[in-house]
Amino acid sequence: MNPLEPVNPLNPARYNEPMSCLFCRIIAGEIPATKVFEDDRLVAFNDINPQAPMHVLVVPRLHVATLNDLESQHDGLVGAMVRTASTIAAERGYRESGFRTVFNCNADAGQAVFHLHLHVLGGRKMAWPPG
Ligand code: 5GP
Ligand code: ZN
Repeated sequence: MNPLEPVNPLNPARYNEPMSCLFCRIIAGEIPATKVFEDDRLVAFNDINPQAPMHVLVVPRLHVATLNDLESQHDGLVGAMVRTASTIAAERGYRESGFRTVFNCNADAGQAVFHLHLHVLGGRKMAWPPG
């Protein structure tokens, strides 16, 4: 069985269990990625298909599938994700010019990897509304 195949495609919230989850495998170092930040709770790495000059994904080490799966115990973790995103953007010089952060949740938003991640995009003018 291909470990990247979905465990249960009928239930998106359980789409990727940790052992078969792409981002869990990147966090574990089993799949290469260009990491730009890590600490005890978070890893940030460059998106493989960047949509802007800066396109970083801020990912918790903890496997949480979607925004819908967050509980109050995760509030500090999500706060750290957001603050890390702004720190990375500031380090790249986008603090004043601006940057965009995006959480995609489930099919209509285009979520493709079912391990919570915050997109951090910068270095070009962003359109609104988003596509
Ligand atoms: P989503 O659509 O789930 O919000 O975003 C998933 C993101 O993960 C996409 O922007 C996609 O380009 C990125 N991605 C998918 N596979 C890989 C990979 O193997 N490595 C890296 N670094 N990014 C990936
Ligand atoms: Zn995972």
